[in-house]
Amino acid sequence: MDFALKEEHRMLQETVRKFVKKECPRELVRELDEKDEFPRTLFVKLADLGVTGLTIPTEYDGLGRDLYGAVIVVEEISKRYPALGWVYVMSAFYGGENIAKSGNTAQKKMYLPRLAEGKILFSYALTEPNAGSDASSAQTTGVKKGDQYIVNGSKTFITGADYSDYMITLIRTDKKASPKYKGLTLLIVPSKAEGVSMKQIKKLGYKGSSACEVLFENVAVPASNVLGGSEFENRGWAQLMDTLEVEHLEVAACGLGVAEGAFEEAVGYAKERQQFGQPIGKFQAIAHMLAEMYTEIEAARLIIQRTAWLLQNNKPSAIESAMAKYYATEVAKNVALQGMQIFGGYGYAMEYDIQRYVRDSLVLPIGGGTSQIMKNIIARKLGL
Ligand SMILES: Cc1cc2nc3c(=O)[nH]c(=O)nc-3n(C[C@H](O)[C@H](O)[C@H](O)COP(=O)(O)OP(=O)(O)OC[C@H]3O[C@@H](n4cnc5c(N)ncnc54)[C@H](O)[C@@H]3O)c2cc1C
Repeated sequence: MDFALKEEHRMLQETVRKFVKKECPRELVRELDEKDEFPRTLFVKLADLGVTGLTIPTEYDGLGRDLYGAVIVVEEISKRYPALGWVYVMSAFYGGENIAKSGNTAQKKMYLPRLAEGKILFSYALTEPNAGSDASSAQTTGVKKGDQYIVNGSKTFITGADYSDYMITLIRTDKKASPKYKGLTLLIVPSKAEGVSMKQIKKLGYKGSSACEVLFENVAVPASNVLGGSEFENRGWAQLMDTLEVEHLEVAACGLGVAEGAFEEAVGYAKERQQFGQPIGKFQAIAHMLAEMYTEIEAARLIIQRTAWLLQNNKPSAIESAMAKYYATEVAKNVALQGMQIFGGYGYAMEYDIQRYVRDSLVLPIGGGTSQIMKNIIARKLGL
């Protein structure tokens, strides 16, 4: 068993670290967080590194599928600027991984080279006002008329829908199907199609990465846009299940990055801040908090590494990916909150970054499947 990073991953990590240091200085991230602005310029610069090709086969101009490489990118960016990490997820995972895994040849040719170049972004539209954890209850309909689907309904909390080019959208194409998940289809809907309208939802954190309500009013979408081709009509749920484990992995990687970023803030402060004539990190209470935080982070890293290895090698990983998502995102929340405690009153002041890590961390145990749903998956796999 070799726990050392492969040389190519070490170099990738170094490249992304240099990028973050140069292009995402703390002051800029603070400013962008306050403005709540989509960091397009930064994403373009990130794409110039070539990392948007890490989930895309070489025949479509990518670097070949390297899930752990993509995880390193998400982690390193999320340490400093989680919202940019999520934009990368839209490119490499919502787009690259999904199309490479489930798209047909025409779709791969159409989207993958542009995704590899970072020229287009995908969002992933599953959640509806009445179908969150229970996504298979989706009510947005697609009615076939000739060679088109007419889509009506609404989605909510869709990350980056407003700046995405395409939305992989879960629609109901057979209302009578039993069980209900057998009547669902994944459709690639152009985000600017006629009849699509959006509104941003105001939220607590991940500023710069939007969450949108999306309304579909008689949106005509070519039937050829069914993910994988027309033979995948009513087979969307199975396609979704096929990519779910990677989705859990990518959110876990966001959690790892956020936890590490918050930890670095907290440990730095504990070494500097003096009370009772010594750095607060010398008090056992604070030192033990930091020791626990560090241990949790390293444990999360191991589960993530193992999950990425399983997925990269096409091995069963439902339980590992659910554990990675559950554990790493809860660690992010714990570490950020403990970090805030270590900062004392200053942790609550907007001029220190630890509050941003708290705000950003809180969504991670919710988005992409809640911690409760992850525990349900784990328990089910344990035969409970
Ligand atoms: C910032 C943000 C970005 C998001 N981005 C996207 C996106 O890009 N695409 C997308 O499709 N969705 C997105 N989501 C939606 C997210 O995936 C859902 O919020 C999440 O799946 C939970 O659904 P819900 O909010 O409807 O909560 P509900 O499903 O109503 O759950 C409410 C509570 O009940 C619990 N619960 C529900 N069912 C069970 C059960 N069976 N067992 C135990 N507990 C249960 C939940 O864990 C939760 O605590 C995003 C959400 C946020 C906040």
